[in-house]
Formats: sequence, structure tokens, C-alpha cells
Amino acid sequence: MVDLYSQYHKIQKEIDQAMHDVIRSSVFVKGGKVLDFEENLKEYLNVEHVISCGNGTDALQIAMMALDLKEGDEVITTPFTFVSTLEVLALLKLKPVLVDVDPNTFNIRAELINSHINHTTKAIVPVHLYGQCADMESLNEIARENNLFVIEDACQALGTEYIFGNGMTAKAGTIGDIACNSFFPTKNLGAFGDGGALFTNNDELAQAMRSIANHGMSKRYYYQQIGMNSRLDALQAAILDVKLKYLDQYVMARQSAAEFYDRELSGISGISIPARVSYSSHSFHQYTIKVPGKRDELQRFLNSKNIPCMVYYPVPLHMQEAYQYLGYRKGDFPVAEELSEQVLSLPMHTELTHEELNYIVLAIREFFS
Ligand SMILES: *Cc1c(COP(=O)(O)O)cnc(C)c1O
Repeated sequence: MVDLYSQYHKIQKEIDQAMHDVIRSSVFVKGGKVLDFEENLKEYLNVEHVISCGNGTDALQIAMMALDLKEGDEVITTPFTFVSTLEVLALLKLKPVLVDVDPNTFNIRAELINSHINHTTKAIVPVHLYGQCADMESLNEIARENNLFVIEDACQALGTEYIFGNGMTAKAGTIGDIACNSFFPTKNLGAFGDGGALFTNNDELAQAMRSIANHGMSKRYYYQQIGMNSRLDALQAAILDVKLKYLDQYVMARQSAAEFYDRELSGISGISIPARVSYSSHSFHQYTIKVPGKRDELQRFLNSKNIPCMVYYPVPLHMQEAYQYLGYRKGDFPVAEELSEQVLSLPMHTELTHEELNYIVLAIREFFS
């Protein structure tokens, strides 16, 4: 699905040098490269605060903790996402309220949200699934009217551009109150291990999140609030700082692979290619097609030809064993349920060659012929 070694190989000198510098400096946590990387990412995103942390799941938890919610407060999100989005709500004893997604964009449907808002609703967590933004202007509007926070789960969308109705643009992860990002190796900007970050333009929330990520410490050994130990280490920061310079190039490589897939697959009647929207670019964290009725068969066929392809995600979260306590049942989110049976993500990374792409689409054509 991804070729991380080839990507490393092209910038090996720079990465190795950056890692050596960290080892020589012996500054492994906080300070040093971590601060450089936070500063450079801040500039890239054009956002006031970047707070690095241990991983994307921690970022979501830290964001939720910073909002100072009460047990049982409701948070709206989608059943068609990676488990973290829901998991942290459950851990913090908040009540996840799920809203179905759009069958074309895979993202939360803003127009379904209003009927789920009550006096205990405190936040909306849209997920920019596969690298395309949710409808943030509509979501921000709903949030403003109802005094809710918007926490973007931008883990799959670093480098995506949001396009406002007036034509202005902003990077995904800078549009809500807080955004959460992951530097898991296969993400758009991947470390050689775990990493995460929070983005915000809100000074108060930034301060709270920085403190929470560091045991809730105000000054050394004085704890203002209950926190956690969640940090990006300097080796990962050094690697990410090098790769950040190439992020736009990486996104373009994904987009051109996607264009090839689009062109070659759009004529096949058994497949829907990913829809595009006017309000977002697509960074193609995943290139995900819909294959009604024949998804599993196509996956097996491609695997038999040594083409990896994956289902993100095979079971919507409301149907997972761990989340049965929420009381949802099969049938509650028909779109998410249908998508979980239709979606198939094709190989997508920054090093796909024309030959590889050709081989993949020929195999798909052969399957449908
Ligand atoms: C990857 C991912 C996360 C979790 O990030 P980790 O760094 O693996 O903890 C959360 N939400 C979404 C949508 C993701 O894709």
C-alpha cells in the first residue's frame, strides 16, 4: 500500500544528518528540534499554535480534555472513521452522538446534525476522511449558532486546502477551534514511529493543551490540572522537519497518481471513483473507490496479482463490540453501513511509478471484463 523506504532513500542524506544532529545534541525531548519543527509547521499551516504530542489519538484526547467538559456531555461525530475519534470520547466518559456520512464524500453530513443537538451537546468532531475536508463552513455555522466547539480530526488531511465560499483558502486543520493530526508513518507527513500534533488559533486552548500534554504542569512540579505524558521526541521531530519541506511535493505526487486512477477507472461501470467537492482539495491519504456487490471479490483478485488493497473501514464504529454500550444497532447509519461493504482503497503513496499504476488499472479492467 505504501513504499516508505523509497521515499526515505531519496532524502536519506538529509534525514541521516538531522538524526545525527539530534543524537549529538542529546536533546531528545522538548526543546531543540521539537521546537524547530513546531515553528516550521506553524508557518506551513499559517496557524497561531502547533503543539506536538505522542500520536493522533493523544491529540484527540488532549483536545477533548482542554475543553473542560463534564461527564456525559455530548460530542457529535461519525461512525465511519478510525476508532480513535470515538475511543477518546468513551475514555473521557463523554457521550458520543453519531451522525451518518455522505455516500459520496464519506464525511459527516452537516444537514443531519441539527436534530441531534441539545443542551448537553458541546462539540462536533468532523473527520476529513481519506484526505478531503468535511463541509467546514456549514459545520462552523452550526457550531456558532449552538455555541459548540469544532475539533477537526485532520489526521488524514495534512496538506489539504479548504476553499471558503468567498474563494479564500486555508489549510485543513486551521478552520475549526482545534485540529488533531497524526504523524503515523503512513500518514501524509509520516514519522519513523509515532507522533501527533494539535493546531489552534485560540491562545487559551493552546496553553491548556500544552499543559495537559505535559502532566498538567504550570511550572515545574506544580500541577494545575490532570494531564498526561504525551510528547513528540526530537528524533521524530527532526525527521518530520526534513519531510515537511517535501510535503507539498508529496501531496502533488498523490494527486497525480489519483488523476491517473480517475482517468483509467472512470469508464468502468462497476466502480465509483472518489467524488470531489468545491470546498476542498484532496490530498489523497487514500484513493478509495466504491465497488457495489463485488468489493471482496475484487480485493481477492487484486491480492492474487500481488496488488495490495485495503478496506478502511470494514465495520462502522456503532457496530463494533466495544461500542455496543452506546445502544446503536445495525440499520441506524445506513450510509456508513453500506460504505463499509463497498469501499476499497487502492495503493497510494508518493513513489508510485507509471508502471505500477498501469499494472493496477489493467488488473482492475481485467476483473471487470
Ligand atoms: C490515524 C488516525 C488517527 C489516530 O492517529 P494515531 O497517531 O495512530 O494515534 C485518528 N483519526 C484518524 C481519522 C486517523 O486516520
